[in-house]
Amino acid sequence: MTTDWPTLNDACGSAAHVPALLDSFEADQAGVWSELLDHLCPHLDTAYLAGFAALPRLATLATRTTTEDRPWVLLAAGAIMSCAPTGDAVFENLATPLADLRRLTDQLLPATAAPEDYISLLQALLSFEGVEIWDRCLEGLQTGEYEVECPYCGVNILLALGEDECFASSDDHPLRDAEKTPLRPSAPEQLEGLARRLYNRALADGQQLVAQGLPYLFGCATCPDCGTAFSVADRVSARWR
Ligand SMILES: [Zn+2]
Repeated sequence: MTTDWPTLNDACGSAAHVPALLDSFEADQAGVWSELLDHLCPHLDTAYLAGFAALPRLATLATRTTTEDRPWVLLAAGAIMSCAPTGDAVFENLATPLADLRRLTDQLLPATAAPEDYISLLQALLSFEGVEIWDRCLEGLQTGEYEVECPYCGVNILLALGEDECFASSDDHPLRDAEKTPLRPSAPEQLEGLARRLYNRALADGQQLVAQGLPYLFGCATCPDCGTAFSVADRVSARWR
């Protein structure tokens, strides 16, 4: 199937130039990565039709490129796919390239040591599977911070998922010491569904820091201002809905 590029749009208008841009990306993946995303998926929340049309070529490139450059290709494809809602027709139409992208990401994860890179690839994997929210909300496990809104009083709450201390604090009263309330992690054996799968995977891949944070991300917190208890994952998700 040939793609009629001039009839498609990217962020700058007609996608007629996209095949040439993909040629440049193929020649220099690290160097052209941000230019490619500027055109195909500029705000990381809107992908253009040209972005989805580029996926078969990105999947082929991911298969052929070096292990060193492969993350650039997988992350570009992941950014595009994270814009497709679960159940979108694109998952059926692009089933073959998506299967290749998923397999290559799956293989690369255990060989990826830096937590930052690991989390980016893990998010890409989820985006190829059609998992929403968590294909873009896992980065707080690496930065150790999530910002959420209290579901009752609406105050902004900073959730710290540090290695030493995990707590919620409100920045609503900057003149007095911010009160902190401890986060309550789920017991790992009680994690279910995606949370359980991510936890097991992170442990198996030797990502202790990521694994340690997941029971907190899928645990509970208490608003320091009004005392309302809430699910951390629900409030993180609420920011994206
Ligand atoms: Zn509150």
